[in-house]
Amino acid sequence: MQVQDYINAGKIASEVRENARKKYHVGSTLFEICESIEKEIGQKGGKCAFPVNASLNEIAAHYTAEPNDSIVVKETDLLKIDLGVQINGYIADTAVTVCYDPNYDYLVQAAEAALKDAMSIMRAGTKSSDVGKAIEGTVKQMGGIPIANLSGHSLEQYTIHAGKSVPNIWSIGSFSFQSTEAYACEPFVTTRDGLGFVREGRTRNIFSLATRKRSKDEDANRMIDFIWQKFNMLPFALRWIVNEWDEKTAKLLLDKLVQNKIVKSYPILVEANNQRVAQAEHTFIPQENGVTVTTI
Ligand code: MN
Ligand code: MN
Repeated sequence: MQVQDYINAGKIASEVRENARKKYHVGSTLFEICESIEKEIGQKGGKCAFPVNASLNEIAAHYTAEPNDSIVVKETDLLKIDLGVQINGYIADTAVTVCYDPNYDYLVQAAEAALKDAMSIMRAGTKSSDVGKAIEGTVKQMGGIPIANLSGHSLEQYTIHAGKSVPNIWSIGSFSFQSTEAYACEPFVTTRDGLGFVREGRTRNIFSLATRKRSKDEDANRMIDFIWQKFNMLPFALRWIVNEWDEKTAKLLLDKLVQNKIVKSYPILVEANNQRVAQAEHTFIPQENGVTVTTI
């Protein structure tokens, strides 16, 4: 584990997240928001670990802007900005929710407070079930409910979801956090009218390479090589390949790769009763006497 790379990626991610928190996004398109944040990550010396997720209202996660996406943030919207920075494949994964409707500020505060509580009990040896219990307790106390089927995750080099889940509710089955591993913790909070879980939506605009298997199609092979060289096995967006191919060709080729299961596509995740969802997220490395939050 390259601790220094995790720390450096975390510092960049944290600065970019705080700038995104301060900025007034109403009137901006999701395209402008994603592109400007991704550009800032590059300017600070990092690489994007995945396309910036800009998920509005009842969409909990996994929406990124389409090329020239014209969706505009409105005065009543709640927007989750989830960003990832990688250095040599070591990832910082962090998120902030900005909310322009005061009626839903409590969701944002609940997600932030739950994350803070989770970090306060974190050390090497902490049980994942205790983290889930703490998050669930805080979220409910603050008037929300946690999304049960979204969770944090262990991280590995060039791997965002490395196998272990950091739960947002109390659940049976548990592991102990280790000082030799990095993790992300990400409470998602919805209203009491929500069902507390997400379903898959129709839109799929985040992709990743599933295999480097060659096909018979030379154009497809060229795209596979391009994706591997640029993004390794990490997620990417159509926006990131339309400079190499025109949009229509890129879309057709990508569709073909998805159909052939060479590329995986990720559906947007929507609250099951279409209730608004807030999120907060940090990346951390447990220590014997506490925790290093890389994205603090
Ligand atoms: Mn994230
Ligand atoms: Mn994450």
